[in-house]
Amino acid sequence: MKFDTIIIGGGLAGLVSGISLQKAGQDVAIISTGQNALHFFSGSFESVEEPPQRMADLFSEAGIRLQYRPGVRLMPLGTFRPATLSLDDINLFPTPRFAKKAMIVNFTGYHDFFTDFLAEGLEKQGIPCRVQLLQLPELDVIRQSPSEMRSVQIARTMDRIWEKVVQEIRVRLDDEDTVILPQVFGLQDLSVPGRIRQGIPAQIVFVGTLPPSVPGIRTQMLLKRRYEILGGTYLMGDEALKAHIHDGVVHSIVTRNLDSHYLEADNFILATGGFFSKGLKSNPFRIYEPVFGLDVTFAEDRNTWYSPDFSADQPYMDYGVKTDASLHALQDGKPLKNLYVIGSILGGTHPEFGTAAGLAVRSAFAAVDQILS
Ligand SMILES: Cc1cc2nc3c(=O)[nH]c(=O)nc-3n(C[C@H](O)[C@H](O)[C@H](O)COP(=O)(O)OP(=O)(O)OC[C@H]3O[C@@H](n4cnc5c(N)ncnc54)[C@H](O)[C@@H]3O)c2cc1C
Repeated sequence: MKFDTIIIGGGLAGLVSGISLQKAGQDVAIISTGQNALHFFSGSFESVEEPPQRMADLFSEAGIRLQYRPGVRLMPLGTFRPATLSLDDINLFPTPRFAKKAMIVNFTGYHDFFTDFLAEGLEKQGIPCRVQLLQLPELDVIRQSPSEMRSVQIARTMDRIWEKVVQEIRVRLDDEDTVILPQVFGLQDLSVPGRIRQGIPAQIVFVGTLPPSVPGIRTQMLLKRRYEILGGTYLMGDEALKAHIHDGVVHSIVTRNLDSHYLEADNFILATGGFFSKGLKSNPFRIYEPVFGLDVTFAEDRNTWYSPDFSADQPYMDYGVKTDASLHALQDGKPLKNLYVIGSILGGTHPEFGTAAGLAVRSAFAAVDQILS
């Protein structure tokens, strides 16, 4: 099978580049083993201080609404964190003192939403609050098994019964000006968070739960859908294993599911993520990139890979695949002419692209521009 460009990795970086190339008329294939960092996404895009117009356009065409409003957001453990660019159902406040009195709402049997931590965090800001548990018979089926009581399963039910939740909250609401809910609304039906806000006479704040992240999964689904509508091929659940390279040019790759069929392309993009997604791997002696065997930056002395201070910035997070200035991968010090590296697998090797989501999006656009030029 032959494509114009093959992208390995279907996370944020892979999807942004795939959509852009497909839109420019290329025939693209994305190969992705599965879960990516978006499944854990907080809803705020770090290191994107101002969204570039092409990012705003790409997300809006995919049906993802963004807001650019610098402020702080309430985190799942009751702390506050600065944010600028976020999905539009994320609440951003000028200061952490965002309410006079709050009601925190959870559902009986759902343990991935930390009401006690949230209450403690709000009390620290001088915001009195009480916790209300809703016993919804519609959740009885999934409640029978604790492993089923997860954000995505609950979100599927909530898309159907959100009006009942609104009624229950209205009955319980006393003199609180703010209601805090777990972020389990709007997985399929994007209008639900807005309708809940309209239906309850108080400020509604949706707060993150334990993963999987409902807004993150929705973002992934919408980007993937946009890519497929544009005609892109998405080989879900497959894994790139190795490549055929001659004279500094990648000719084809071999995948787990299509082992006897080589996938060929004019250009390749490596967007396999960092350690979390197994784009980078380590053994006691080295850190390596498993598909192409690319050059990776890391310190010789393994003891310096991490800091014993758990909360410190960890040095290994800066390690990444080496590239030239045009994002061509380096192998034994030499650039591979048609292999570009983007996203978190770059680690801290390209500070000009920022970190986190900023790195994923900026490096994706940079590689796309190289390929199209
Ligand atoms: C847990 C977590 C939470 C995060 N939350 C945020 C956040 O809230 N905000 C923010 O700005 N940033 C966040 N980040 C930073 C995040 O890394 C970036 O925002 C961005 O989503 C990374 O995208 P990526 O496409 O580079 O990599 P990933 O999202 O990691 O995607 C890489 C993909 O490649 C696939 N893959 C790997 N190897 C192969 C192979 N051999 N063949 C085929 N497919 C392969 C993986 O399965 C995965 O699907 C988070 C990171 C992590 C790890």
